[in-house]
This record gives sequence, structure tokens and C-alpha cells, in this order.
Amino acid sequence: MLTKSLVNNINLMTDKTIHNTIIIGSGPAGLTAAIYAGRANLKPIVFEGNQPGGQLTITTDVENFPGFPNGVMGPEMMDLFRDQAKRFGAECFFKHVTKVDFSSKPYKVYVGDEEFLSETVIISTGASARMLGLKEEEELMGYGISTCATCDGYFFKDKNIVVVGGGDSAMEEASFLTKFAKKVTIIHRREVFKASKIMFDRAKNNPLIDIMVNKSIDSIIGSQKEGVSSIVLNDTVSGEKTTFECEGVFYGIGHNPNTNLFDRVIDLDDNGYIITKPDSSLTNIPGVFACGDVQDDHYRQAITAAGSGCMAAIDAEKYLEDIE
Ligand code: NDP
Repeated sequence: MLTKSLVNNINLMTDKTIHNTIIIGSGPAGLTAAIYAGRANLKPIVFEGNQPGGQLTITTDVENFPGFPNGVMGPEMMDLFRDQAKRFGAECFFKHVTKVDFSSKPYKVYVGDEEFLSETVIISTGASARMLGLKEEEELMGYGISTCATCDGYFFKDKNIVVVGGGDSAMEEASFLTKFAKKVTIIHRREVFKASKIMFDRAKNNPLIDIMVNKSIDSIIGSQKEGVSSIVLNDTVSGEKTTFECEGVFYGIGHNPNTNLFDRVIDLDDNGYIITKPDSSLTNIPGVFACGDVQDDHYRQAITAAGSGCMAAIDAEKYLEDIE
């Protein structure tokens, strides 16, 4: 195949090769795309970005990824994904893409001043959970602070936990967490909730859920060894500070898709997620595909991201065959 023979040994600094596929992002979606594209002999280039391995590298145990009956640490799992992709010829670089130009073929991907050319691009830049910006987050993320109830709820059996936020995510996470927790307290900084009435009512009517309004989290007390023990709350009206005992803090304050690079380049929905055609990874630009959380604000799971990464590689391979 012509396109599959285009790639030789590359020297990235002087690279004028037209690659078959460049993958931007290295979470489960991007690295699964790399495994499939590698096995299809496309010799994919992966630019891993600022958070190599993606969101799973800030979690601890992953217990719901099939094939790991005893669970696996998130960072270790992503190392395994990467090793598997490299085994099939993917080249992974710890580089952060700063600009793309999809206005003409071959497509151009920039890392600072360096320009890379490719017939296809797979976007898997993911989404980032919004943070409160507390200094404890770095130490305690995965050790009592979590941004994903589906992923981590199981670790909080019979515990008192709080969910921060007043939108549908917070309501959904709180309701889900009552499957495990002794008590869930929703902490919201205002009296008015963004959540839809149905989701708010479901949370409000759940006997295991308490709702506290006009409160923000000032600090989170805990350690990696002991986990979280309490939080300090700030009353947003009176400014009074109180301590609240809890063993887990879930952030339900939303996600931001990592699509700054693609603003006005590719079709995004109202929330900034890349729009893909139904049942595919196709974007509005032929030869540019999107997979994982950057195009999915609903499921947001490693396994679904990996599945969509597989779809993107297959879609890219098919596209390359067709243009030949
Ligand atoms: P939203 O933007 O709707 O809500 C975010 C919430 O978090 C708001 O209440 C906001 O407070 C609060 N918040 C944001 N930043 C901070 C902060 N720094 N400190 C304290 N609180 C903060 O995000 P969601 O993720 O909830 O929802 C996003 C979209 O996804 C919505 O359209 C929603 O309907 C949809 N969704 C649907 C679901 C379903 O139907 N099953 C489930 C989950 C989401 P404030 O109100 O004061 O701004």
C-alpha cells in the first residue's frame, strides 16, 4: 500500500515525512488507537501531551477494566497500553501539540516550531475534570479525593462522603454513591442549582443524601497514608468556617474537553466537545478522527474510550485505503 510505505525511520527534528497517522493524546483512547494503527502497519506517531497516559495517571486502583481481575494501578495500566502500542511500531513522544492546520492536505501538526505532516490525524486529547484549585488536591487525588464516582465509589463502602457541585453531574454522582456510602452530603456554593429538576429531586428525596447550600470547601484534611478525615467549609454568605467530618470528597463540578487547539478548526458542540458522526469517529474534516472523552461527555470510562480509540484507528485505516 502506498500510504503504508510512506513512513521511514523518522528524525522528528527534521521530519518532512508524510505520516499515515498522527495521534494527539495518550489516554486509553489514543493508545488503543495506536495499538490498532500499529497492527495495521500504519506506524502511528503519538504525541502524548502534558499528561502522558491521560486522566488515569491521576487515579490509583482501576478495578473495572476487564482483564485485570485484581485491579491495576492507573499509571501502570497506561504504561502497559504504551508498551503494547510500541510493540506494534507506534512511536510515542512526550511532546505537547501547540497548533494544528487542517486547511489542506497533508495535515499539519505543530509542536512549537516543529512541523509534522500526516494524511490522517486522530484526536484523543480527552477532557479534564474541573478542580477546585486547593493545594491539597495534588497530594490527595486518588487518596480520598476523586473526580469519578463510577471509578472510585466502590472504595467508599460505609463511609461518609461529600460531593461538591450543584449540576447534574453532582446529583448523578451523589445518587450513585449511595450504593456504597453510609451518607452522602452534597455541598453547593449557592442556593440555586443548575441541575435539572428531576435529577435534583431524585437526590433530594434520597434518605441517604443531605444537601448543604451556600458552602464552599476551604481545605481538605488528610494524608496519603490515612486518606481524608475532614474538610473545612466556608459559608459563602456569612464567611463562617466550620469543620465537617468525611472520608471522601468527590468533585462533581464538571469537565472541560481539551479542545482549545481545535476551536474554529473543527466542529464542536455547545460544551466544546468534538462532534463525531453517529456510530463512528468521523469529524467534519475528512481524515481527522476523534475518540475518547474529547468527543464523549456521557460515558467517560477508560473502557469506552479504548473502544472508541479502536474505532478511530479502523476509520483512519479505511480512509487511507480509500484515498489510495
Ligand atoms: P455544570 O456546569 O452543569 O455544573 C457544574 C456545577 O459545579 C455548578 O453547580 C457549579 O456551581 C459548580 N461549580 C463549578 N465550579 C465550581 C467551583 N470552583 N467551586 C464550587 N462549585 C463549582 O456541569 P455538569 O458536569 O454538572 O453538567 C454538564 C452537562 O452535562 C450539563 O448539560 C448536564 O445537564 C449534563 N449532564 C447530564 C447528566 C444526565 O443527564 N444524566 C449527568 C451529568 C451531566 P454554580 O452553579 O454556582 O456555577
